[in-house]
Amino acid sequence: MAYEVTATRKRPATFSELEGQDFVVSTINNALSTERIAHAYLFSGPRGVGKTSAARILAKSLNCEEGQSDTPCGVCSNCVSISRGNSLDVIEIDGASNTSVNDIRTIKEEVLFAPNSSKYKVYIIDEVHMLSNSAFNALLKTIEEPPPYIVFIFATTEIQKVPATIRSRCQQFNFRLISVEKIKEILIKTSEELDLPAEEDALFWIAKESTGSLRDAYTLFDQVVSFSGEKITMEKIRTKLGIAGIDSVNEIAEEMAGGNTQKVLELTDEALMGGVSIDQLIIDFTSYFRSVLFLKHNIVKEALLGSNPSIFSKKVISTYSISQVEQAIELLFKLYKDIRFSLNQRFELELVFSRLSSLSTYISPNEILKKIEGIKSDLKSGSFSVEQNTGELKKEEKLSENLSTDTITSIIHSLRKNKLALSSTLEKATSWKLIGSTLKLTFDSTYSGNAVKGDILPIKEKVSEILNMNIDIEVSIVNPSGGSPNEVDENIELVKRVFRGEVVNGGK
Ligand SMILES: [Zn+2]
Repeated sequence: MAYEVTATRKRPATFSELEGQDFVVSTINNALSTERIAHAYLFSGPRGVGKTSAARILAKSLNCEEGQSDTPCGVCSNCVSISRGNSLDVIEIDGASNTSVNDIRTIKEEVLFAPNSSKYKVYIIDEVHMLSNSAFNALLKTIEEPPPYIVFIFATTEIQKVPATIRSRCQQFNFRLISVEKIKEILIKTSEELDLPAEEDALFWIAKESTGSLRDAYTLFDQVVSFSGEKITMEKIRTKLGIAGIDSVNEIAEEMAGGNTQKVLELTDEALMGGVSIDQLIIDFTSYFRSVLFLKHNIVKEALLGSNPSIFSKKVISTYSISQVEQAIELLFKLYKDIRFSLNQRFELELVFSRLSSLSTYISPNEILKKIEGIKSDLKSGSFSVEQNTGELKKEEKLSENLSTDTITSIIHSLRKNKLALSSTLEKATSWKLIGSTLKLTFDSTYSGNAVKGDILPIKEKVSEILNMNIDIEVSIVNPSGGSPNEVDENIELVKRVFRGEVVNGGK
C-alpha cells in the first residue's frame, strides 16, 4: 500500500479529532447544540494548528444530512463532498490569490443564490488578511446583512492585519500552538498506528522541532519515517539529518567549561566532519545554553529544556555563572547573524568556540562595577580580603584598621615631651595599622625606620596607654627599589589583578 502523507491521513473529520484546541472546540460545539449560528467566523492562529480543518468540520456540521450537530456523520453525500472539496455549497477561497475587489464582487453576486442541496452556503476564505482594503470594504457590506443561508469562515495567521471593522462583525476563535508534550503524544499514537516502533526521544525531537505546528510535525515525521526502516531512532535522525545531538554538544560544552580549547576545536572538527552544518551547530549550542540558563534558574520542565534535565552536564551547569551563560547565548546569537556575511564561516565558528572556552573567567560589566564599588569602599576603610584562587574580592569583617589621625597625634604629642627626636621621626610613618593587638608602622626611609626600631619601648608604652591595651609594635621599611610591598603596593597589585592592567607612569 502506498504511504499516505500523515497530515492528510490524520486530517480530523470531527471536532473531537481536532487536537490541542479544546477551548475552540467546546465553544463551537456549544453554539451548534444551541443552534446559535453566527454568519461570520474568524479563525486566527499560527499555521498548521487546524484552522482550515476546523472550518471544513464546521461546514459539515452545518450541512450534514443527518442534521446540524457537532458530530457530522461523515458518510452522507454532503459530508463526503465537503471532505473531498467538491461540494457546490462549500466554497473555499485562497485569500492570497483572490485579493482584488473583483473577486469579492463575484462573491457578492453569488451569495444571492440559495444553496444547491444543503442548508447553508459556506464560504471559507483562507489567509483573509491578504485581501486589499477595497476588497475588505466590499466584503463588509455582505457580512453586515447576509442572506440567512450564508456563513463566512475566515482564517488568518495574521489577525492584526484584518481590519477592525471586519473583526468586530465576526465571532472570533483564537487557535493556539500545540504543546510539545501533546505533539509527542500524537506522534506516539501515529507511529503505533503505522506499527512502526519509535524511540520516545526521537518523537520528542520531532515534536520540539515542529514548534507547535502539528502539520509541520507530521511533515517531519514523514521525512524521518522515509529513512528509518524498521524503527525510528534518534541515532538515525542524527546521522541522516546532521544533528549534533545532545551527547556531543554536552561533550564539547564540558571541554569549554574546563577551558580546554584544543579539545573543543578538535571535537568541533569531528562534528563538522560528521556532517553537522555550521548553522545547525550554532542552533544546537544556542538551545543547549538556553537550557543551561533555565537550569541555573531551577527550571526543570522537560518541554522547556528540550531534553530531560538529567542529560545536561553537571560540570557545565556548576562552572558557569548566570551572566556567563547569558554571555554565551549572546555570542552565539551574534555568530548566527555574522556568519551570513562571513569570509569564512568555519573560522568564525572556531573563534567563538575558542572564546566560549575561556568564558568561565568572563566578568560582566555589572560585576566589574560592583567590584569597583567594593574596592572604593575598601580603600576608604583600609580593609581588604583577597581570595587568591578566584580573584574574587570579598568584603569581610574588618581584620585591621588604620589608627585615626586623632589617636596618632595624641601618641606623637605625648611622646614629644621626653622624646622629641623620636616623636619627629614617628611623624614620618606612612601607615599606622592596628591588626589585632599589633601596631604595624611603615616607613619609606631606612633611617627613620631603624631609628624607631632602636627606640621602640617608649612608643610601645605610650600606644598601650592611649589605646588601653597591651600593644606589640612591628616596624617595616619599604624599599623604593622593590622588596616587600607595603599596603599601598598590595592595593595596587589588587587593582591590577581585577582589571588585568599594568601600572603606567612609574606608579611611585
Ligand atoms: Zn453527514
